[in-house]
Order: sequence, then structure tokens, then C-alpha cells
Amino acid sequence: MAIEEVEVLVVGAGQAGIAMSEHLSAHGVPHLVVERDRIAERWRSWRWDSLVANGPAWHDRFPGLDFDIAPDAFAGKEEVADYLVAYADKIDAPIRTGVTVESVRKLEGRSGFRAETTAGTIDARYVVAATGAFQKPIIPPVVPESAGVHQLHSSSYHNPEQLPDGAVLVIGAGSSGVQIADELRQSGRSVYLAVGPHDRPPRSYRGRDFCWWLGVLGKWDMAAPPRGAEHVTIAVSGAHGGHTVDFRDLAARGITLLGMAGPYENGVMNFAPDLRANIESGDANYLSMLDEADAYIARNGLDLPEEPQARVFAPDPECVTNPIGSLELAQAGITSIIWAVGFAFDFGWLQVDTFDDSGRPRHQRGVSSEPGVYFLGLPWQSRRGSSFIWGVWHDAKYLADQIAIQRSYLAYQAPVLADH
Ligand SMILES: Cc1cc2nc3c(=O)[nH]c(=O)nc-3n(C[C@H](O)[C@H](O)[C@H](O)COP(=O)(O)OP(=O)(O)OC[C@H]3O[C@@H](n4cnc5c(N)ncnc54)[C@H](O)[C@@H]3O)c2cc1C
Repeated sequence: MAIEEVEVLVVGAGQAGIAMSEHLSAHGVPHLVVERDRIAERWRSWRWDSLVANGPAWHDRFPGLDFDIAPDAFAGKEEVADYLVAYADKIDAPIRTGVTVESVRKLEGRSGFRAETTAGTIDARYVVAATGAFQKPIIPPVVPESAGVHQLHSSSYHNPEQLPDGAVLVIGAGSSGVQIADELRQSGRSVYLAVGPHDRPPRSYRGRDFCWWLGVLGKWDMAAPPRGAEHVTIAVSGAHGGHTVDFRDLAARGITLLGMAGPYENGVMNFAPDLRANIESGDANYLSMLDEADAYIARNGLDLPEEPQARVFAPDPECVTNPIGSLELAQAGITSIIWAVGFAFDFGWLQVDTFDDSGRPRHQRGVSSEPGVYFLGLPWQSRRGSSFIWGVWHDAKYLADQIAIQRSYLAYQAPVLADH
């Protein structure tokens, strides 16, 4: 089969690949985006049925297109996918779906890379890995299959009906874990929720959504997580019109809170004695945002309504004051465990020298240590917002600029000197 030649091969047509296409087109750089499934597939099949965006429609979007819903509403997962498809259409992105890139290797003795795909071989001068931050669901090998408990990752959870009857243990209390636990509780299940370190910004404060506050306070643009907070998740929810994640309220509605999940042995799961500390540091994060917001309002003389009740917390529930250290799963009636503990990288197809010993990409703002290879959509790629819709757009612009700069060097022609 003939080898196809492209200037830039973009792998993945989620929001990252689409944003990349827009900025490459703006530079007039020929490119091809290949996607193994459908455009924005992960929003369709890797999210639970009732999921809505964490940020309001005015915020969680690309600059060039509004959602077709009220700006303060939270788009459903299908609406987000439809939005990205519409965006790809609008910019006429050259996307080929149903094509998996199986390997990319450096071409020997000449510039560029060879990609072997399920639809043939493609040579490209530049490759952008736009496969995002959420590639391989993590289910730690803690509870063996022989335990007879149904285990799944949050990305495979769709709705309560899919689970066997019985209580559910949700491990991880970031945005996914808390929303799934809440939905399961509302469906009438007994629910246990293991809570690790987290940030939980107020959904809104003094009339402004937390996305607005993080924006004006410069927190989406932070270049790196604060030291010691690298593994702190963020617990926010746009469900039911949006509300602040409040662990005391979850407990009041019947969810049993637990500390970080620890080892499992002979039907018993153990939990770290850190629940109170995790709740307290989440509270401290919440209160510090209120303080920063108040200071911002005062400094800029903004006329936003005071909200003293935002500082009032309900008393700690019994499960926090008297935490459970271990649970015999069968006795608690637990038949399912949902692991909402995040994702790992999966760059097995990218066989170039740009990964450290733990498989993490070596790069600077997405420009990899292998010249000609770029990453897009990584967590904290250039800033906190990098893996989100609005943030990836800016990183894609930066990468397109870098590719254009490299191309302009290659286009350089030495002037022909006139004879004397
Ligand atoms: C539960 C959840 C909720 C989220 N909610 C929000 C939110 O409300 N707002 C927000 O801004 N962000 C949100 N995010 C973060 C982020 O916006 C999404 O994860 C988004 O899908 C990331 O887009 P992406 O293009 O970087 O990666 P993906 O959407 O993961 O796209 C990567 C694409 O690459 C394809 N691919 C991978 N490998 C190959 C290969 N070898 N060959 C061909 N194709 C390949 C995949 O099929 C996939 O379609 C959420 C994330 C999660 C997990």
C-alpha cells in the first residue's frame, strides 16, 4: 500500500485534537487528525449517563462558539460531545475517524516519523499526541477477583441500574466519586464513600460561579500545583443546576464517609484514619477561596452581595467524629466497588525517546524532548486549566506557533550571492 505523507499528524479527536486543528489551520499548516473512535468519543461512552459539565456553558467551551443552551446552565455529556462535533464542522477540521495509530517511530536518517495505523502507513514531519490526560482507567490491584465483589472504574459507570443489588463502596471523592456516590444514594442504595485529600471550592460565592473566581484570581493559570498538593483532587459538581460539594451534607443524606482506602484482606477493607484531616483541609481550601474572593471584591470595589451564610458549616456527622477503620464488605452488604481514582497515561503507541522511567512525557509546555513530537491535553501542561476545554485551546495555539516557527526555519533558503 502507498505511504501517505502529511505535514502534521494529530492523534486523537477529542477537544485537544480539534483545538490543534483550528490553530494549525490558522497558520496554514497542512495536517490530518486521526481518531480511533468517533469525535469526542470519551464524552459519549466514558462518562455516566447523567453527567453534566463541571463548569457553566459560558465558561467550559472554546472561544469561537457558544453552547446552544443558557450560558449559566451545565451542558450534559452528549451536549458537550455534540458541541465538539459542531466545532469540528465549523472549522472544517480534517478528521479521519475509526483509525487507530498503532505505532509512531522516528524515520532513520531523515526528518519526520512513520505512523502505522489500522488504515495504512502515514509519514509525518510532526506528530501531536492529542490523546489527553485521561487515557487508561486505574483500578489498583487491592481487592482480588476471588472476593466476589463487582469492581468497575468510574469511566465504566453509567447508572445505578447497571450494578448488582446491594450497597456500593465508592473509592475517591473528586468530582466523579462524589457525584456517583450522590446519584447512587438518591437511587436508594446504601453508599460508602472513601474520601482522600481534596479541594472543594464553593460552587458560587457572592453571585459568581467558582469558574469565574478561579479565573479572576489567576488560579486556572497557575503554572504548577502548590508544593505538597500534587495529588489533591478537586470536588465540584454541576449536577442539579450546580451545588457546592459538601461532605457533611452527603453524610446527612445517608452516605457513610470513610478515610482513604487501604489494604484488603479476607473480606475486610481497611481505611486510613485521615477522614477528619481530609475534610478539614477541604474546608480550609474552601474558606481560603472565600477570603481571597472577599479581598478581590474589596480591592476592586465590586458591588457583589455579601454571603455570610457561606461560612456556616453543619456539625460533623458521626462517621467523621467516630470514623470506621475497617469494613467487612459482605457484612456491610457491599456488592460493588467503584474506583474513582483517576487515569494513567497510555503512550505505548508513541515509540520515541521522550518518556522518563515512569512513562511520563518529557516536555516543556507540550514541546517534547524528541524534536518534532508534541503533547497536548496533559494535566498541568502549561497551567492548571490545560486539561480542560478552555485551557487546551491556549496550549494548542502555543504548539501550533512552535510548529510554524520550526517550519519557517526549514523554509529558509540561503541567498544566492552575486559574483563580484
Ligand atoms: C468524568 C470527567 C468529567 C470531566 N468534565 C469536564 C468538564 O466539565 N469541563 C472540562 O473542561 N473538562 C472536563 N473534563 C476534562 C477533559 O475536558 C476531558 O477529559 C476531555 O475529554 C479531554 O479531552 P482530550 O481531547 O484531551 O482527550 P480525550 O477526550 O480523551 O480524547 C483523546 C482521543 O484520542 C483518541 N485516541 C487515543 N489513542 C489513540 C490512538 N492510538 N489512535 C487514534 N486515536 C487515539 C481517543 O479515542 C480519544 O477520542 C472531564 C474529565 C472527566 C474524566
